[in-house]
Amino acid sequence: MNAKPIGPIPPHYGGQAALEIAGRSATDWAGAGTPLYLYDLAAVQARIARFRAAMPAQVALHYAIKANPFSPLIAAIAPQVDGIDVASAGEMAKALAVLPATTISFAGPGKRDAELEAAIRAGVTLNLESEGEAERALAIGERTGIAPRLAVRVNPDFELRGSGMKMGGRASPFGIDAARVPVLIRRLIAAGADWRGFHIYAGSQALSAEAVIETQSATIGLAARLADAAGARPPLVNLGGGFGIPYFPGDASLDVEAVGAALASELERLDTYYAIELGRWLVGEAGIYLARVIDRKESQGETFLVVDGGLNHHLAATGNFGTVVRRNYPVAVAHRMHDAAEEVVTIVGPLCTPLDRLADRVALPRAEVGDLIAIFASGAYGASASPQGFLGHPPVRELLAGN
Ligand SMILES: *Cc1c(COP(=O)(O)O)cnc(C)c1O
Repeated sequence: MNAKPIGPIPPHYGGQAALEIAGRSATDWAGAGTPLYLYDLAAVQARIARFRAAMPAQVALHYAIKANPFSPLIAAIAPQVDGIDVASAGEMAKALAVLPATTISFAGPGKRDAELEAAIRAGVTLNLESEGEAERALAIGERTGIAPRLAVRVNPDFELRGSGMKMGGRASPFGIDAARVPVLIRRLIAAGADWRGFHIYAGSQALSAEAVIETQSATIGLAARLADAAGARPPLVNLGGGFGIPYFPGDASLDVEAVGAALASELERLDTYYAIELGRWLVGEAGIYLARVIDRKESQGETFLVVDGGLNHHLAATGNFGTVVRRNYPVAVAHRMHDAAEEVVTIVGPLCTPLDRLADRVALPRAEVGDLIAIFASGAYGASASPQGFLGHPPVRELLAGN
């Protein structure tokens, strides 16, 4: 039977015959119980160091915690980044536990008055998503006697080419259409708010350096035009992020060094500070999902491995988190990483739905009941982005490895 390809195993793990995370075998880690997410702190730290080496020094690094809000991970990352971007009051509380309010920004449509007030009282910057939200924030500022820290999220008139999720160049629930932004900035400043600058996020999961470079250049150009039209200098321009990671066959890593080199020559077009906000690129390849084989079964000539967790924990690997075509994540039998393939198997989770398919017809060494299956590139949009209550199985365990 023809096997379907799998995505690239991150190089750091691909070299191992039996999977180890932070110096301990997968078997050892799984002793705590499966299914399990392991987040390899050294791998996250290596990403942060690579960002710092590649990017101009004046570009701040923010962590977008919706990618992975596991509290021990946030606490470990916080001292090494310059800020945290949040998108709910719940995320804001987590960020405030580890970093000062002035380094935190709060984006997302539909912020309730209670969320706006909590942010304003804490001194967190609100990335405004609409004029209506701006007026509610100004009213809360007036009522509380606090000048709110307000940045304007701009719906750019361009998009990040080749990105998995486009966030610009069209009608959008996110941000305020660029043409209306200068009037709003003048309004914010006249009302006595502390205007913090721009937030411009044009897309996610980009693997092409050329596309990111083009978008960053367009973003800086747009910020400069808007600042000019508003007659005010933005204290900060948040350039968004969108740095992607390889998931699927044929995906290649983003050349972050090329992005940094190109960005260096663009920054002087505007007198301001810059930030880049990253989620997936910082934590995605540092995460591994481990599930145990509960059953092997044959049906009409095909072999199924049934493991103890599936889309309830890892919606993205099953292709049900915003993908058009289902493709296989990087997957391996944890203690037989280098062994030759012996069979073609489909790996499914324990849920009573045909959507619960973690790997479709992949060629692997034989895995027996009790063996561990590892799914790589699982550190972002995993546990918190999956319907854990669906079908009533236990929640997934999460562990930070190497702290
Ligand atoms: C989701 C999101 C991010 C993080 O995106 P990644 O692709 O995980 O890097 C950053 N900024 C905003 C505004 C977001 O909504």
